[in-house]
Amino acid sequence: MSDLVSAKSTAEIIKKYDFSIQKKFGQNFLIDEHVLDKIIDAAQIDVAYGVIEIGPGLGTMTRRLAALSKKVVAIEIDRQLIPILSDTLSDCDNVKVINADVMKTDLGSLIDEEFGDMPVKVVANLPYYITTPIVMSLLEGRFAIESITIMIQKEVAERMRAVPGSKDYGALSLAVGYYADAYIAANVPPNCFMPRPKVGSCVIRLNVRKEPFVSVRDEKQMFALIRGAFNQRRKTLVNAVANYEGLSYKKEEIEEALKKLDLSPSIRGEALDLQQFAALSDILT
Ligand code: SAM
Repeated sequence: MSDLVSAKSTAEIIKKYDFSIQKKFGQNFLIDEHVLDKIIDAAQIDVAYGVIEIGPGLGTMTRRLAALSKKVVAIEIDRQLIPILSDTLSDCDNVKVINADVMKTDLGSLIDEEFGDMPVKVVANLPYYITTPIVMSLLEGRFAIESITIMIQKEVAERMRAVPGSKDYGALSLAVGYYADAYIAANVPPNCFMPRPKVGSCVIRLNVRKEPFVSVRDEKQMFALIRGAFNQRRKTLVNAVANYEGLSYKKEEIEEALKKLDLSPSIRGEALDLQQFAALSDILT
């Protein structure tokens, strides 16, 4: 099975089909073979696996995934790419392309219907305009997915796996850490794509936890507390949460709860880890 991953073959396909690249869909096609190898290595796919690819584009990565796995279901929003994909994937009989917006796709039913008993992984070079909503819906959906290996903006990847006290630490780090264990597999410069994105990229792998990292009485309430704590980053947690519209805790209640956890009333949200947010939320709820 031959590879399409090069500037030359990407340019040829674009020309052959008179394809116009859609910025609004975050189309930056991967043209570097070493980077493709890194994503594939990080994903650790084998013939037992079913793979969901979000945004197959011209089918570059899809071909590799098809060669390694049992079945690939690729979800692509851009109608223009569907005839191109039937051509570039014509020799891959274990690929199903679905023309849909992943944000409007019922992934739970798709997994049941398309993969049956197969273990499932997600692998994608994600469109950057919608990275966080896609990742959060994959995690919050609690689907039967083992891992999510994705190319995303470097800055977002750093926020996803940041630790308390660091400048990148925030609501996204806590949300991702609750559902998954994240590690960065590669840094990828803009010249590995056509057209070049304005930002640097990273391949990040999220190993989805079987159970969330902490147990908390009211998950929604904890995430509201976290959003409140980081809503005004420079304020103390007490002030930020008390001012947050989504919650109605009084300052004294929050101070009292912090005291029970032996935490200072002047502490900032960025100093608390997931266990501490869970404990604080349980006291306040
Ligand atoms: N996988 C290809 C590659 O690596 O060269 C293309 C990656 S490109 C960064 C992102 C792809 O996601 C594009 O093909 C784009 O059309 C598609 N896409 C954008 N928004 C989408 C959505 N909401 N649902 C499904 N696919 C989407």
